[in-house]
Order: sequence, then structure tokens, then C-alpha cells
Amino acid sequence: MPSPRIAVIGAGLAGIACASRLQLEFGIPAVLFEKSRGRGGRCATKRTVDGLLIDHGAQYFTIRDPLFSSIVHQACGDALLPINAPITSPDGTPIPGEPRWYHRDGNSRLARDLGPDLDVRSATEISRIEPLGHSWLVNDEPFDAVVSTAPLPQSFRILGLSSPPPAYIPCLTLILSLNGPPTGRAASQYAVRDRSGPLEWSACENHKLTRIASDRTVIVSQASEAFSRAFLEADPVVWGAALTDLTARTWNLNPADVIERVTHRWRYARIASPATLPTLPPGTFFAGDATSASRVESAWLSGHETAARVAAFLTKAQAADPAPAIP
Ligand SMILES: Cc1cc2nc3c(=O)[nH]c(=O)nc-3n(C[C@H](O)[C@H](O)[C@H](O)COP(=O)(O)OP(=O)(O)OC[C@H]3O[C@@H](n4cnc5c(N)ncnc54)[C@H](O)[C@@H]3O)c2cc1C
Repeated sequence: MPSPRIAVIGAGLAGIACASRLQLEFGIPAVLFEKSRGRGGRCATKRTVDGLLIDHGAQYFTIRDPLFSSIVHQACGDALLPINAPITSPDGTPIPGEPRWYHRDGNSRLARDLGPDLDVRSATEISRIEPLGHSWLVNDEPFDAVVSTAPLPQSFRILGLSSPPPAYIPCLTLILSLNGPPTGRAASQYAVRDRSGPLEWSACENHKLTRIASDRTVIVSQASEAFSRAFLEADPVVWGAALTDLTARTWNLNPADVIERVTHRWRYARIASPATLPTLPPGTFFAGDATSASRVESAWLSGHETAARVAAFLTKAQAADPAPAIP
């Protein structure tokens, strides 16, 4: 009897965790369809032409869950590093927190290390899946079950749900590259967090070891929810200039030292609150950060847990109809 086949849409941390567990623990092959060229989704890293690695999505990740801890340590080995420099409020008061981790080779590398041998069809955007008997057509191929890990507005479209999807909070992001090594507060401090101003987060990537050349300073800034909503559809030149100004003031940088400015618009950066999903069509599943918390670790755990639900569904379907769904 042929093995069931599963389609997983999205090669972010949830998709990678789901496909990995299906294959390794349940022996069920999964095909990942990813619209981008790379993996990692919002756990994103830019590699500049001169070889700098800059995390412009998830800045760091927590390792709270014992299972995630053991798997991520095993998969990443000595590439898993803690951020040691402090995070403060704008007035310099340290903000305490649990250990914050990053991947030496760029946070997007997590997706590769946590799922090294997966069948990923990159640059393949899925707009809709279609039912075919008891199975589903994805990109014209039949599958016994489909897991969508795209942010919910996209997942609702893909799965053909008509109810309005839960709200997400956008995040406008700026990457600034400057001539010279970090000076002033950037020399000793990783990030500044300001929950009440327009610049919610600004971090000096030089504190991630081996990432940034010694004659450069790289700052990643994220606008607040209010700023991001106000400028979401505006010209990036306009909001990029405003964020540059705020960033320069925060770190006391000289704008004349800026070599490069890159903007990125995250339309679905994080969920406003954990979502409750409507009933999904049989054989379809959602995995991702949207049902728990917008964190790398939560996304991975959601994918991992969804793999068990998919395996249980297939076992039940097989018991009800021993003939294979896909001839
Ligand atoms: C700016 C920013 C900062 C953040 N900072 C942190 C942080 O410091 N710490 C932390 O833990 N978390 C942080 N997060 C949150 C964290 O990145 C996410 O919670 C997590 O990466 C979500 O993983 P996911 O797999 O659920 O979704 P995603 O990473 O969004 O993965 C979904 C994948 O689906 C793909 N896709 C979408 N539509 C389609 C389609 N139609 N067809 C095919 N593929 C599709 C996407 O390209 C993507 O690769 C941050 C997020 C952002 C945006």
C-alpha cells in the first residue's frame, strides 16, 4: 500500500517542524511548498553583497520548552549562541529578561538545521487547494492531507475559508549600515526597547558574534504598532527616512556615516491575540504562531504538535477506508 503523502505550505519554523516530525517520527513523507526562494519565513536573515548577515525578522529566540531545547541544541550545536550585551529602555535602564539566543549563521539557518533533509519546493506560491475525492490537489499534485502554515489571512484564502481571518499587527523595519565600528552606547549595548515611542525596538547586530565586519555598524530598527499602521501603505522612502532619524537619535549616530539603508514591510508580523480557528475542511490543518504566541519557539512547537494530529487523522482515515486515498 503506498505511503500517504502530506503537503505542508510554508517553510517557516512551523512548516519545518511539522514536516520533520512527520518524516522522522511517523515515517510519513511531506512536501513543503514555499513561496520565497529561502526558508525560515519571518525568522529571516539578509545576506548583504559584502557578506554581512543581518536578522531583519525574529531578532533572537527563547528556548523555554525542554523538547525544543534538546532538539535545537542537537541540531545547531555550537552555532547556537546567547546574546550577552544588555537591552535597555531609552534612558539606559537595563531590561531584565530570560536568555536570548541567535544562530551564528543567521537566524534563518534554524529552518535548515531543524529540517535538513526535507523536500522543499521553493519559489512555489500556493493560492488555493482543491478537493479531489478524499484527497487534496496542491500545485496539481494529490495529497492525503494539507497543513498550511502561512499567516492566517493567506491560510484562509488557501483553504477556501470565507470567515474573516484574525487580525495581525504589521511591523515596518529598517536596516542601517554605517561606516566604522560601534561607538557610544552601541559599543556596549545590544538593544533599546521603547514600548511608548514610535521606535519600539532598535538593536545593534554587531553584538551577534562573527556577523558584522569590524569596520561596520549595523542597526536593525522596528517601528511601533501605531507607526507601522500609520505608514503601512506609504512610500518606504518616507517612513525609512523617519525611522533613520529616530534610530540616529536613539544611538547618537552621525547620519553622514550611513552607507546603506534597507527597509522591509512585514504586513503580518505578529498576531494581535491568540486566534481561535473555525472548523477546517477534513484533511486540512493549520500550524503556526497564530494560535499561541508570535515567537519562533511557539511556531516550532505548533508545527511539531500538528504533525501528531495529522498522523492521527491518517490512522483514523486508514481504519475507516483501508483502500489508499491516492491510487
Ligand atoms: C519583525 C519581526 C520581529 C520578530 N521578532 C521576534 C523575536 O525577537 N523573537 C521571536 O521569538 N519571534 C519574533 N518574531 C516572530 C517570529 O518570527 C514568528 O512568530 C515565527 O517565525 C513564525 O513562524 P511560522 O512558521 O508560524 O510563520 P512564518 O515564518 O510566517 O512562515 C510561513 C511561511 O509560509 C510562506 N507562505 C506564505 N504564503 C504562502 C503561499 N501562499 N504559498 C507558499 N508559501 C507561503 C511564507 O513565505 C513563510 O515562509 C518576529 C517577527 C517579525 C516579523
